[in-house]
Amino acid sequence: MIQEKIKEIKSGKLTAEQNIKNYLKKIKDEDKKINSFIYVNKSALNDAKEIDKKIKKGTAGKLAGLAIAVKSNISVKDMPITCASKTLENHTGTYDADVIKKIKSEDGIIIGMLNMDEFACGISGESSFFNPTKNPAAEERVPGGSSSGSAAAVAAGFCDIALATDTGGSIRNPASHCGVIGIKPSYGRVSRYGLIDLSMSFDQIGPISKDVYGSALLLEIIAGISKYDPTTYDEPVVEYTKFKKPKSLKIGMSKDFENLCKDKKIYSVVKEKAEQLAKKYSTKIQNIKLEHVDLAVQTYYPIIFVEFFSGTRKFDGKKYGKKIEETCGEEVLRRILGGKEISKSEYNGMYYRKALAVKELIKKEFEKAFKKVDIIILPTTPILPHKIGEKITDPRIIYAYDSFTIPANLAEISAGVISAGKIDGIPIGLQVFVPSFKEELLFNILKDIEEL
Ligand code: GLN
Repeated sequence: MIQEKIKEIKSGKLTAEQNIKNYLKKIKDEDKKINSFIYVNKSALNDAKEIDKKIKKGTAGKLAGLAIAVKSNISVKDMPITCASKTLENHTGTYDADVIKKIKSEDGIIIGMLNMDEFACGISGESSFFNPTKNPAAEERVPGGSSSGSAAAVAAGFCDIALATDTGGSIRNPASHCGVIGIKPSYGRVSRYGLIDLSMSFDQIGPISKDVYGSALLLEIIAGISKYDPTTYDEPVVEYTKFKKPKSLKIGMSKDFENLCKDKKIYSVVKEKAEQLAKKYSTKIQNIKLEHVDLAVQTYYPIIFVEFFSGTRKFDGKKYGKKIEETCGEEVLRRILGGKEISKSEYNGMYYRKALAVKELIKKEFEKAFKKVDIIILPTTPILPHKIGEKITDPRIIYAYDSFTIPANLAEISAGVISAGKIDGIPIGLQVFVPSFKEELLFNILKDIEEL
């Protein structure tokens, strides 16, 4: 779909201006119901007109005329960067994040800033100060989170591609619930300069799109080393059109994940698709032992608590917005207080260091698994999205929601989600894990699944 749209724009059949006009109208007419945008870019049409001039001259970039929507924790110059929190309710970006600079230099048009869970803490989109987002693919259900607006805006057809962020599943969980594609890149693949992160050990910026090509294209553009982010690596990124299809494929699934799946119907839908993929490659699915994945959630949270607590010290009401403890919601406060407690000097870093040690154990376990198989297939969430208003209040249930997504963040690998089917009309996302920096393989497999 994106490939066709790019052709239409290049050939002059569709102007950038008309593309943006169509989206602005759709957002105006339909987003009242979905609530995926916090802010719509007032100068998007003007930007489009400028890009049309470049298209005519034949000097336009790879994203020429496409509408890109951005999660509200990524800085775009002169647009609100609120993290969907009252704390930053009136805060405006003073510079472009690395990813935004790259998108603009390829002539993508920033159409607006998207709703999300407050400071990216959540699983449902319900903790936004700007009210919850609805799921366009399953009315009355939550869209997933924390990148609720990113997945919903793509699913509703309000933009071409969206930027989202993933600390423990926030790209993949909403992509699964909204029936779209979501990619968590390998740790270090994409610069985080200009991102208000939840956790420096895990966060990655990645794409959400309707088709595999859209995500591959956006990742190709935003990936790469940055002098502003020392965690980035200089790993080559391959263009989609130059991808080499694998001739054979070793597929793994794990009973250890199956046991963590509360809704067995979800597991069956994913397994059935995985079997179709195995058939295509004339191979059999292997069972992979992953003994420590049941510790993933317990390992992730102490790290998040400590790093989030530390990262939020800048929101003291002096320089940026309001004092966070006085303005944030319940989940954000829980993490700040939890992080403050376990990082007290008398504990001497005990919890944080222990969690980092288990993180290494899980990382090693995946390295071992990837000696036997090329990819691992699993579901994205262990349960279906709940109805809006049917709030989950027990943090243990909220945290277990990410049992299938967090392991990829702990192992620093890349993972992607694509719809495998539906249960009662609700999309079910199949998740693919690949080793670090094997995004080319990931996109090849997602493309295979898209074509099944
Ligand atoms: N739900 C997880 C959390 O609240 C993941 C969030 C995310 O990936 N940003 O921490």
